[in-house]
This record gives sequence, C-alpha cells and structure tokens, in this order.
Amino acid sequence: MKYLLVAITFALTAVLQQPVSAASNSQPPNIIVIFCDDLGYGDLACFGHPTIATPHLDQMAAEGMKLTQFYSAAPVCTPSRAALLTGRLPMRNGMCSNSRRVLFPNSKGGIPATEITLAEQLQKVGYATACIGKWHLGHLPPFLPTRNGFDYYFGIPYSNDMDRVNDSPKGRQAFQNPKVEYWNVPLMRNEEIIERPADQTTITKRYTEEAVKFIKSNQTEPFFLYLPHSMPHVPLFRSNEFENKSRRGLYGDIIEEIDWSVGRILDTVRQSQSSENTLVFFTSDNGPWLIFNEQGGSAGLLRDGKGSTWEGGMREPTLAWWPGKIKGGTVSRELASTMDIYATASQLAGVQLPDDRTMDSYDLMPVLQGGQGLREALFYYRGYRLMAVRQGAWKMHFMTQNAYGQPQPVTHDTPLLFNLHVDPSEKWNVSQQNPDVIARLGKIVAEHKKTAKHAPSQLEK
Ligand code: MG
Repeated sequence: MKYLLVAITFALTAVLQQPVSAASNSQPPNIIVIFCDDLGYGDLACFGHPTIATPHLDQMAAEGMKLTQFYSAAPVCTPSRAALLTGRLPMRNGMCSNSRRVLFPNSKGGIPATEITLAEQLQKVGYATACIGKWHLGHLPPFLPTRNGFDYYFGIPYSNDMDRVNDSPKGRQAFQNPKVEYWNVPLMRNEEIIERPADQTTITKRYTEEAVKFIKSNQTEPFFLYLPHSMPHVPLFRSNEFENKSRRGLYGDIIEEIDWSVGRILDTVRQSQSSENTLVFFTSDNGPWLIFNEQGGSAGLLRDGKGSTWEGGMREPTLAWWPGKIKGGTVSRELASTMDIYATASQLAGVQLPDDRTMDSYDLMPVLQGGQGLREALFYYRGYRLMAVRQGAWKMHFMTQNAYGQPQPVTHDTPLLFNLHVDPSEKWNVSQQNPDVIARLGKIVAEHKKTAKHAPSQLEK
C-alpha cells in the first residue's frame, strides 16, 4: 500500500511538473478564420494578381493549401456572414432579403437566438472565443457577438461606409479621398462603444494587435478566433506604413496591409505552443465591389462581382493552413463553401452537429488532406431567390441579374448552362447541347427545394 501511494504521488508530481502544452494530441485544434470584406478572386499574388504583393499569403499557400473552387454562401455581407457562422443557407434563418440586402444602422433585426453559431458550438467544449472585426449580424444588444457565443468582441458592428455624415462630400467624392470623419461608424469593445467615429486608418493594425494578444493569452485551452477584417470594403483606409506602398495604388496598399496582418498572425502561431495544432482559413465574404472602379478589387477571370451570382460575386480566393496536417503547396479544386468551416471545426472539436434543423455544411478534412469533397452541389442564392446551381463542372442559371443597374432578375425558361472547367468566365452558354445535364441538375434542385423552407426576413425589420 505504502509503495502504491509513493508511486501515485510520484506519478502525480511528474504530471504536474510537465509544462502545459497546448499542442498535446488530446487537445482539439485552434481554429482561426480570417475573413476579408469584398476581396476579389484575383486580388492576391498567389491567385494571379500581377502587381499586388502578398508575400505572407503566398507563404501561407506554400505551406498550406490553395482552394480554387471555394464559395461564400451569398454575394453580399450580412447573409454571407450569417451562413459562415451557422453552417446554413441564409434563407433558412432569415438573414437575407430580396429588398434590403444587408443590415443597416436603422435595422431592428439580427441573427436569431435560435441559431447555434460556430462560436456557441465550440464554447460547449471549452473553446475560448473571440470576434475581432466587422460583425454585421445585428448591432442591437441581443445580436452582438458577446450574446452569440463570443467571449470577447472588438470591432465595428456594421459596414465601414454606413453612418455617412451629412456634410461629407456628396456621392462618390467621399470615397475618392476618404477621411475618417465622413463616416460616424462606432468601434466597440464587447458591448460598449469605445470610439466614434472609429479611426479606420489604424483599424487593420489594431485588429491585428488584438488578434495577436488573444492568441498569446489562450495557449492552455483551445481557441476560436474569428477575424472579419473591415477592409478592403470602401472607404479604403490604411496605416501610415502602407501609404503609397503598392504599385496597385490605394486598393493595393490595403491588401498589402492585410497581407502583413496575416504574416503577424501566422508568426504568432508559429512561435506559440500551439504551432502544430492550429487550423487557419483565409477567405472573403463576397466578391469585389466593381462599381467603385479602381477602389474596388478584381475577380480575375471570373464574371461580375459583389452582389451577383455570377462566379465573381461568390467564388473566393481561399487558403487553408495547418502544418503537419495539410500538405504544403497543394491545390484543391473540390467544391467547397464557407459554410463547410462549421462542420469541419465541429468535427475536429468533437461536437455533434445540430440534428434538429437542416444544415448546409460538410466536413472539409477529406478535401484538406488532398481527397474528394463530400459536397455534391452548391446553390447560389440572391436574397431568397435561388438563381443557380453547380455540380462538378456544370453551373446552371435559372435567373440572372447583374450586380448593379438591373432592378429585376431575368428568368430563363431554358436555363443557361456553363462548363466552369472549360469556361470559368461564363461566356458560352451550352444548354442546347446538354439536355441531360440540365435534367440532372434539375433533379438536384427539386431535391433541395424539399428542404428549402424560407424563414421570415430579419433584414426587413
Ligand atoms: Mg462584403
């Protein structure tokens, strides 16, 4: 007995003397989601931009995976963010509308309490959670990040071009030479406004500092860091260090500062105890805002941009990074969605997916490890309208509507059909030659519609 006690004491002492390691095999991985606002598919050097320099993102791609068929769930901010955080199409939770496309400072609605955000999901198993950046899922108290699964919030509650000050230069002029005081956007910490107007020139830098602090102070428990940048949404602001740095001009300066931020975050992870146990995604909420000309980004070879269900509105330049788990320098061409981050993180954390509702989320680990994806199809919604569907190479449009300047959609009696492998720019309609494909995609949509119950809009309140 005495020997047994000594042995137990000895073992306990040994355990207690072990350094606390966040990278132990038993601990689920940290999850970081870096989410840009209105970044185009063609805006990163590693996605082909000829003059914007993104060395840190290029390195992230070299050490991780580039996903070339990765989509947001909506072509504008609010529904896209709702889908990412709930793993569900926005029409299922009412975070969309055919008339008011996003939430505004006078909106009364927000993310419904019945939704289970990814942060709430991960909190169940002890994750520390933070949202640092632009929220845009409701600015009134019940809808704030702190009421929806995040332990900590630092950022702006809606878009950086809202709360326009009356005596600011009219129309587009304010965006040509933007000044912080033209927009009365609040900056919040948890549930308090700490600065108004938010000094947007330092906002990317301050988000980065907050993110680095959060990572460093959460080394003994798993964490979920959601970092939705306010940029490169117009008005464009960057810190002094990035003024006139990029050959691409102001927009390039913004992307190069975001690139710097990614470098700081990955370096912090690399130097931390959890370096081998952190999965990082980099992507965007929707495509580039093309009506702002050189102040907006580029969708590269994809058609149209933010606001539309053409490829440029919803396909995002996406990287995934997890040293030791994701092979460096790999490219996946599997169909995937921001909504899939929900099932992936839940699976890794060992939390069951909600089984009392329809989910639109598939575990991405097979894709991230170089295999085939579990997602069969992708549905392109604009508000509540199902505009198009994709399976494999094929994309079929029932309705089309340009991002701007076309008030109503055009319905196609014979849907338009594009082979995106051959024709990523959606130039050549091949529906006449492929009636079998039209029929097959039609069946997928009929199946989808059986579960496509529309919730009342939260955006029209
Ligand atoms: Mg956006």
